[in-house]
Amino acid sequence: MRFPKGKAKALTFSYDDGVHPDRRLIEIFDKYGMKGTFNINAGLFAPEGTVYPPDAVSGRLSKSEAYALYADSPHEVAIHGYTHEFMEELPTSKVVSEIIEDRKALEEMFGRRINGGAYPFGTFNNDVVEALRLCGIKYCRTTVSTEQFKIPTDWLRLPATCHHANPRLMELADFFLEYGVNRKPQLFYVWGHSYEFNQMHNWNVIEEFCEKMSGNDDIWYATNIEIYNYIEAYNRLEYYADGTKVYNPTLVELWVYQDGVTYKIPSGETVSIK
Ligand SMILES: [Zn+2]
Repeated sequence: MRFPKGKAKALTFSYDDGVHPDRRLIEIFDKYGMKGTFNINAGLFAPEGTVYPPDAVSGRLSKSEAYALYADSPHEVAIHGYTHEFMEELPTSKVVSEIIEDRKALEEMFGRRINGGAYPFGTFNNDVVEALRLCGIKYCRTTVSTEQFKIPTDWLRLPATCHHANPRLMELADFFLEYGVNRKPQLFYVWGHSYEFNQMHNWNVIEEFCEKMSGNDDIWYATNIEIYNYIEAYNRLEYYADGTKVYNPTLVELWVYQDGVTYKIPSGETVSIK
């Protein structure tokens, strides 16, 4: 597999809770052409008119502020549970309502399909995973860090490469940039909370990381759901029995890499790959 335009690498971000430091984070993302996903609890918006002290480390956005920040942006909005509960401790009916009420509220608010998410507190069990699947959620991020760039396979137990506070962040970034991809494409996935940059007084970390990773023709900068949707489409390619031709039945332009050659497989077309 190759990502759009034949790129071998992708970079994505996932930030939780819908808090006011997301504004500064999005400014940084936009400045460097990064794309990310913001996981929001639609049941916990601040009352309209809430004003935080200028030095407030964190604080949730009101609904209108959240709309103003995320709606007309290239970033994704995803669920984080309607009221940020430990989902694995709830009865199943409550788990379902935490998922579906968040989905419904965010879909109504933003006028888009919302089908990704991140676990509140990072905790879950198999019943929660099944509830997410039945409620139409395609992927859900955990707080597990792999310090690797593997393409995920278990999307409802989605691990990250690392948290932004991982002491190896810049080392991993250098490795990611310098690594020459031969076979499998690579995904760098960073997660965190924007208020942590206020708490730790280290906005320079994300600024430097984004600057380092920006403007690279080998990297696809994408939201979580864009990457999920692309990979799902790729997995639907249909090969001839002898492997010499491939048909793309999807609406997505797909890219295949084989024996040193990158092939574009336009939507609805069959392409010879030998
Ligand atoms: Zn959270």
